[in-house]
Amino acid sequence: MSNEIKSIHEFDLNIICEYYATVERQGPGSPEITLKALSFIEGLTPESRIVDIGCGTGGQTMTLAKNTSGQITGVDLFPLFIQLFNENAQKNNVHDRVKGVVGSMDNLSFQNEELDLIWAEGSIYNIGFERGINEWRKFLKPGGYIAVSEGTWFTDHRPQEIEDFWMDAYPEIDTIPQKVMQMQKAGYIPVATFILPENCWTDHFFAPQVEAQKNFLKKHAGSKPVEEFIANQRHETVLYNKYKAFYGYVFYIGRKI
Ligand code: SAH
Repeated sequence: MSNEIKSIHEFDLNIICEYYATVERQGPGSPEITLKALSFIEGLTPESRIVDIGCGTGGQTMTLAKNTSGQITGVDLFPLFIQLFNENAQKNNVHDRVKGVVGSMDNLSFQNEELDLIWAEGSIYNIGFERGINEWRKFLKPGGYIAVSEGTWFTDHRPQEIEDFWMDAYPEIDTIPQKVMQMQKAGYIPVATFILPENCWTDHFFAPQVEAQKNFLKKHAGSKPVEEFIANQRHETVLYNKYKAFYGYVFYIGRKI
């Protein structure tokens, strides 16, 4: 079985992008958890500059927008996601202060010490946690905050099958103390960390995909790459249910010293 499962890196980006455009979230999370993370951020004002990196179609950004009053810029690599993001901002009537722009997280064009808050839910892995928190730090004002969620091991040891899966998907996955240490070394006070509850995966991430997968297969009937991609997605759900005691997403919140 495991030999038939492809690495996520082998799939066509167009397929991944088209598929994820059909669901509200592109990673595990929930409005409640976005708000919980936001509760640790102090001192935001209507003048605050907030950036949501790897924002996707903006599920979490709209929650941020409704609960803060500053300017928010969403950045994502994929134009389709940014188009949907901006439509979302219109629908939520926050488009006067929430704008999506196409860009890459490894080549951001903000000024040094311009930002009050950097947000990144389930996306920093694209550049790597340690590189991201180090490279983005210069954009924050002193005392500014970073809040990111990241795939994390809960234990020192775990079964081989899940170890192999993550070593292929994202070898930088690590334990909470290691990630907190990286944050401290990068020049942040580790303000808070907490584990995302299971419903961020089950209700908010996997459940909407059940219908989306059926529709996607129907739309691309006969396409082998799409069938393989969906099989891979379903395998990820199976692995989560089997090994959720050993890994999950963790929010890391830091304040720039
Ligand atoms: N924050 C959203 C999306 C998470 S999925 C949510 O939680 O629902 C990861 C996102 O990172 C995707 O939208 C993907 O398009 C984006 N991404 C991948 N590589 C990127 C890069 N180099 N720069 C900016 N965004 C990137």
